[in-house]
Amino acid sequence: MTNIKKIAVLTSGGDAPGMNAAIRSVVRTCAYHDVAVLGVYRGYQGMIENDFAPLDARSVRNLVNRGGTFLKSARSKEFRTPEGRKKAYDNLVAAEADALVVIGGDGSFTGALLFNQEFGFPVMGIPGTIDNDIYGTTYTLGYDTALNTVVEAIDKIRDTASSHNRMFFIEVMGRDAGFLALNSGIGGGAEKILIPEQHSTLEDLVNEIAINHNKGKMSNIIVVAEGYTTGQNVYELKKYVEAQNPDYDIRVTVLGHIQRGGAPTCFDRVLASRMGVKAVESLLEGKSNYMVGINNDKIDLTPLEKAIKGGESKLDPDLIRIAKIMSV
Ligand code: ATP
Repeated sequence: MTNIKKIAVLTSGGDAPGMNAAIRSVVRTCAYHDVAVLGVYRGYQGMIENDFAPLDARSVRNLVNRGGTFLKSARSKEFRTPEGRKKAYDNLVAAEADALVVIGGDGSFTGALLFNQEFGFPVMGIPGTIDNDIYGTTYTLGYDTALNTVVEAIDKIRDTASSHNRMFFIEVMGRDAGFLALNSGIGGGAEKILIPEQHSTLEDLVNEIAINHNKGKMSNIIVVAEGYTTGQNVYELKKYVEAQNPDYDIRVTVLGHIQRGGAPTCFDRVLASRMGVKAVESLLEGKSNYMVGINNDKIDLTPLEKAIKGGESKLDPDLIRIAKIMSV
């Protein structure tokens, strides 16, 4: 065991459901081990601006079920500079913090790793992002909640699609990764799923839609990941397909930020609780520069460097095949 007496915790990057449950877990694990907690508001920017508050087991009540992050999140340009990180370090030391838990995405982990390399300050990461695109963990916090939000939306849109024989392009989040699109597409029964990992041409798309039509499919749900790369956005895709098939009734729904909010699912709450315990106990064991992850249902650690640079987290190719079979 180390002589860590106070742990700072912050949330950084895009907010994700389950971040509050993770903060709660960090705080309660610290309380369990008699370690004090320093809550840092507004991510790294709050570290630079001394925006701190002590947290105890009672200050995180009624949080497990709440979306977003009560510590607030921010993107901090200043933390990208050595001067900004030095200010943050001086503030943490003045507040008597001995270690830092960062809940965020790979950008936040890059900042945490630099911070450790420059000042030797112990850091531990917890992956929080709805995109699920972090190497070293099968699931990130917020992904399961977002997935369920998207499936619920697809179910509702399907009612209209089938009542009017309409085709819907539904854009879901995922700039670089198709996890949300692929899994929500399978769960929501989409006829076609367009993801960044799989390239196809607009002609392919039009051909497939025609094939579906000939099979007697009168309505179509097409799930499009934000980062799907034909060089066209979802409205342009619609325009193109419409131009080829003027008699189709096509609509576009961009789900946008509703995917980020809302109460975390039980899965995300349990995951957050498990990850928070592991993050704190690993720091108390003297470990640093790791990201907590879940692999084969076991909570484990991946070096931050690997989580950042280890490569893309890969979609299961079998799922892509399953999506194809389901839309036969
Ligand atoms: P999301 O997946 O939601 O985008 P993220 O953690 O990747 O989450 P970023 O905006 O990339 O989000 O990073 C969050 C913050 O981490 C940045 O605002 C910045 O303060 C810090 N950060 C990111 N990259 C670096 C870097 N190369 N050096 C120092 N700090 C960084």
